Amino acid sequence: MLDWLIIGGGVHGTHLAAVLVGRVGIDPGGLAIIDPHRRSLAAWDRRAQAVGMEYLRSPGVHNLGLGPMDLITWADARPGWASSEPFMARYLRPSVPVFRAHADAVCSQHGLGLRRIVGTAERIRPWRRRWRIETTTGRLDARNVILALGATGHTSRPDWAARLPPERVSHVFDEEFLREDAPTGAHLVVVGGGISAAQVALSLAGSDRGPVTLLMRHRVRRHMFDSDPTWLGPVRMAEFLSDPDPASRRRTIAASRHRGSIPPELADRLATQARRGRVLVRRAEVEDARVRGGAVALDLGSGDPLVCDRVVLATGVDPARPGGELVDRLVRELGLPVAPCGYPVVDPALRWCRGLHVTGPLAELELGPVARNIAGARRAADRLVLALSGSERLSSDGRMAGAPALSAR
Ligand SMILES: Cc1cc2nc3c(=O)[nH]c(=O)nc-3n(C[C@H](O)[C@H](O)[C@H](O)COP(=O)(O)OP(=O)(O)OC[C@H]3O[C@@H](n4cnc5c(N)ncnc54)[C@H](O)[C@@H]3O)c2cc1C
Repeated sequence: MLDWLIIGGGVHGTHLAAVLVGRVGIDPGGLAIIDPHRRSLAAWDRRAQAVGMEYLRSPGVHNLGLGPMDLITWADARPGWASSEPFMARYLRPSVPVFRAHADAVCSQHGLGLRRIVGTAERIRPWRRRWRIETTTGRLDARNVILALGATGHTSRPDWAARLPPERVSHVFDEEFLREDAPTGAHLVVVGGGISAAQVALSLAGSDRGPVTLLMRHRVRRHMFDSDPTWLGPVRMAEFLSDPDPASRRRTIAASRHRGSIPPELADRLATQARRGRVLVRRAEVEDARVRGGAVALDLGSGDPLVCDRVVLATGVDPARPGGELVDRLVRELGLPVAPCGYPVVDPALRWCRGLHVTGPLAELELGPVARNIAGARRAADRLVLALSGSERLSSDGRMAGAPALSAR
């Protein structure tokens, strides 16, 4: 029987596994990570590749190692990176290759590759004071389970997109989406107003395949990060945690996330490419879509339709509770507490019930607007470490009182 089973081996699952082994000191033999992908962070890699991401949006202190400076010192010790601009100067935002190579180093350091089970968890139920997990590769028993399922299982798609045949429309986060699939000369329309839309439009334009239009329903919103950095400090979190009403916490989260925003340097690149005529940026909303005369016609409500060959949706993910039937069933069968928005109501140790922890979006009502990000994974780990050290009092910024010196932030 396992001591710990982490379901989901992405950014959050990997960091939590590293912390359990490296900080808490659990026996690696008692830990497993189950994920359908053989490689850690495979889902993250696919999305980064799909949008053509070059640098992370978050600073280097948000990394998967045990300490906040781990990635920066690790990269500094490897001069080979010097030639490939490993960090963007401001906030030391790491390049995708540096972040990934460091994440692999973290996995090797803590032997996480050996702890990985390739499969999908299909059902979790209590069984003799432990958890029994039915998976596509057999049954597992564990004393503690962490749900680190991520959010991108279900993409958000406008209704009109359903009226187009699949070969004419895809979402950047679809498993099958490949930027390279766009035929040369095809006019592509990217729909979306956030960082992924800007990234994919710029990389498609850079590949010289054909004209690229970026269709946004609002003006370009410039924000360095996807929520205000004050959320990483004590004041905002103290206020958030003092609010006992989960519905009101949900409203705070919604108001605090800079949805559909673009970091300034990317917005500048977009403006430059627009001036050069490489990307046409249009502010409009699609009302309807159909294939007419061998091309896609997008009805923008007024004037002539926008005619193109293919549509690429960069419209984000569905805000509904992630986890699908696995999580729905837990709620249904065990009556676990949920907020009006459907998300788990968990304790400060991110426990939904005894031995069942959550992280990422599922922990949003406890970790606040950064829950989905790497910073959220680090916060979740801090909570777990403190809970396991038997000291569960929360300090005002959401750390637990008595956090050890190695507090990962
Ligand atoms: C393009 C992009 C760029 C981003 N850039 C940044 C950034 O710069 N900085 C930042 O802080 N955040 C960033 N984020 C946000 C966030 O950090 C990522 O979305 C990150 O991948 C979230 O980690 P996660 O572990 O929650 O989810 P994921 O990385 O998606 O991992 C979840 C894993 O769980 C697996 N899983 C799901 N259900 C099951 C199941 N039933 N059984 C077994 N396995 C299961 C999935 O297959 C997946 O492998 C970015 C997001 C995107 C999409």
